[in-house]
Amino acid sequence: EAKEMGHGQLRLYDHVFGESVHNRLQLSQDLQKALENNELFVVYQPQFDTASLQITGVEALLRWTHPELGPIRPDVFISLAEQQGLIAKVTDFVCEKALQELESRTLLHRLIPRLSINVSALDFEGSACADAFQQRFSTLKDWSFIQLELTETAIMNNFENTRRVLDRLRSANVQVSIDDFGTGYSSLNLLRRLPVNEVKIDRSFIRDIPRSGESSSIVRTVIAMARSLKLRVIAEGVETPAQIRFLQEENCDELQGFYLSKPMRIDALEAFCKSYVPEKLAQHSV
Ligand code: C2E
Ligand code: MG
Ligand code: MG
Ligand code: MG
Repeated sequence: EAKEMGHGQLRLYDHVFGESVHNRLQLSQDLQKALENNELFVVYQPQFDTASLQITGVEALLRWTHPELGPIRPDVFISLAEQQGLIAKVTDFVCEKALQELESRTLLHRLIPRLSINVSALDFEGSACADAFQQRFSTLKDWSFIQLELTETAIMNNFENTRRVLDRLRSANVQVSIDDFGTGYSSLNLLRRLPVNEVKIDRSFIRDIPRSGESSSIVRTVIAMARSLKLRVIAEGVETPAQIRFLQEENCDELQGFYLSKPMRIDALEAFCKSYVPEKLAQHSV
């Protein structure tokens, strides 16, 4: 998936800017402004218990609508933010915005047990990064509400520092999920040595179940491994009832994907959660 994303990113740059370095620089200046000018916003994609189809949490996903270029893909502007030293500000923004939007809606806050936030490898670099997280969650009473999503690659990038910071956050009850699981390296060793609560099976494996025997056995294996390590396991990119049935039979704990719900702005999320009836979804479509 990393490769896929890399290509997509190049394509987008080529498509929008050709070879121009100036414009890439321009875009990072625009991003800096966007952080101040409300061009960035957060959407929320619900996650569901596989058996009951109850909502277990939401993942915060960042969006940027550029005033001239329109929507910019997050993997593009996130890597730009990483290159330009803006990622800490981006992470500050997502944490502040998501917590503010969820906590100000008391009913919604009660309906949603967990908030997952994607973080970058660079969020774990430097001596101040632990304090930065401390700061981001300082208004929150119960930090078990927060789950940080990191990719294997991000962790391997700076293993010792990442582990040190995660250990500290874990002892404050923050949860940790390994995103895009299966696409990186040294998975088992990683899980054994890190304070992890959840693995999230990458969409590329979910896409081909149950049709592909290979993907099906990879998914089964990850579920079994997570179970033996007493970790929660969630599937991302669930798009069909057949995938849901497979994941139910294999006892995958949780589901996330367009079939169940797309990422939504806070108002739409609130409407969705208030009217959501798990039994209906179960009867009609699964
Ligand atoms: P991710 O964390 O693995 O997020 C899952 C991506 O899959 C999201 O794309 C989501 O919209 C999409 N998705 C969810 N369900 C389905 C489905 O059923 N089918 C398909 N085809 N796609 C689905 P999005 O929002 O474009 O984000 C892409 C990546 O950008 C994320 O991958 C994450 O790595 C990064 N990202 C997004 N928001 C943030 C953020 O606030 N901070 C950081 N550091 N990274 C972010
Ligand atoms: Mg994620
Ligand atoms: Mg993912
Ligand atoms: Mg991904």
